Amino acid sequence: MGFQDAVLTGLAPDGGLLVPATIPDVTPMLASWQGLSFVELAREIVLLFVDDIPREDLERLITDAYANFSHPEIAPLTKVGNVTVMELFHGPTLAFKDVALQLLGQIFEYILAHENKHLNILAATSGDTGSAAIAGVRGLPQIDIFVMYPRGRVSHLQELQMTTEVAANVHCLSVEGSFDDCQNLMKTIFEDLAFKEKYALGAANSVNWARVLAQIVYYGYASLKLGGERPVSFCVPTGNFGNVFAGFTAKRMGFPIERLILATNENDILAKFFESGVYERGEVRYTVTPAMDIQVASNFERFLYYHMDCDPVALGEFMADFARSGRAELAAPLHTDDFLATAVSVDDTLSTIRTVYETSGYVADPHTAIGLAAAERFALEGPLVCLATAHPAKFPDAVNKAVGEDVARHPTLDSLCDRESRTTNVPADIEAIKDVIRRLGH
Ligand SMILES: *Cc1c(COP(=O)(O)O)cnc(C)c1O
Repeated sequence: MGFQDAVLTGLAPDGGLLVPATIPDVTPMLASWQGLSFVELAREIVLLFVDDIPREDLERLITDAYANFSHPEIAPLTKVGNVTVMELFHGPTLAFKDVALQLLGQIFEYILAHENKHLNILAATSGDTGSAAIAGVRGLPQIDIFVMYPRGRVSHLQELQMTTEVAANVHCLSVEGSFDDCQNLMKTIFEDLAFKEKYALGAANSVNWARVLAQIVYYGYASLKLGGERPVSFCVPTGNFGNVFAGFTAKRMGFPIERLILATNENDILAKFFESGVYERGEVRYTVTPAMDIQVASNFERFLYYHMDCDPVALGEFMADFARSGRAELAAPLHTDDFLATAVSVDDTLSTIRTVYETSGYVADPHTAIGLAAAERFALEGPLVCLATAHPAKFPDAVNKAVGEDVARHPTLDSLCDRESRTTNVPADIEAIKDVIRRLGH
């Protein structure tokens, strides 16, 4: 399958996730890539994985994707205490998902225009994907987008970021259920291949390989900037495992990366897996980090594939066990030099926001604070980069409560409250979602 088909199809026809046929080795290029800007490096990296879009076109798509970022460096690095924070939230919706979804929107538009096709994108969001996906495709004539979110489980501002969008190709669905329900609905609808084909369904979630690809860039960028003497470790607030999987891929490509610290909130199924090799679903807990209130991480399957030496049969058995009983276990004890993992409680999240603010004046959003708290638990040598995944103003309740004053504001968000909003209420039911797509899709 070529890159363009992989982007359009989202999930493989058997319901599995796509991975590149080979992972390129960048070690011969590292010296010449030193000193490239974010956009320049993005052009080099993305091109390695794309076999069917001409270089000039791809370069233009990448340049356009990052033109909407408010910071000239796209992903600036800033020192906070003795760690380096990489701010990934300078895109239009103030979360790191813009880094990938601004590019994905450009790529979708390019492919559809060339093939003269229409796409109905179905997305499930725990809060930030929805608005970022909408911002990537709003107003595009060849796309309709349907965004499912768990009613009452995304923050008020996150909901407004989606539902105040006026473009006619944007359809928000407020689902009576959890994020895992939304993600499940999406998976099930994608498994109905006849429906998927008839309505030309596409995916904007991080199951879409292009999302992961775009996220490899900032791992490469930071590791080239800081990894001159010793490889760089990254601390990653993790929900669906998309972000940290991009880091894992960057490491396999040969960028100077040492460890990936996987930081979860109280939904600690992944942290437990890395401690024990047992992957076991529990009840979703609702925390101050809604983007990580996830039990079943959709991208985890990609990591397992490599961990099982690319054995699709073993992976299929593991995933089938898990689907059947909510529990699966590795045949051999987990051994990895790539990951460290830990779970951070709500109390620790809030106290980290407070301490970081008091000691360095830096205002961290709760997701970023989970990473900062996790980083402290491991005495790693060498440079350490904590990924800041959202602007604090997206989560003002938690941040202001932790700090005790009103420090979390952003003008883009202040203006949302006066705008009109629209959404469609639906039950967590496959037929109900399909009906909306039948009615409003093209
Ligand atoms: C989506 C999101 C995460 C989790 O990222 P994954 O790629 O799903 O692991 C963390 N923080 C914020 C703010 C997010 O929006």
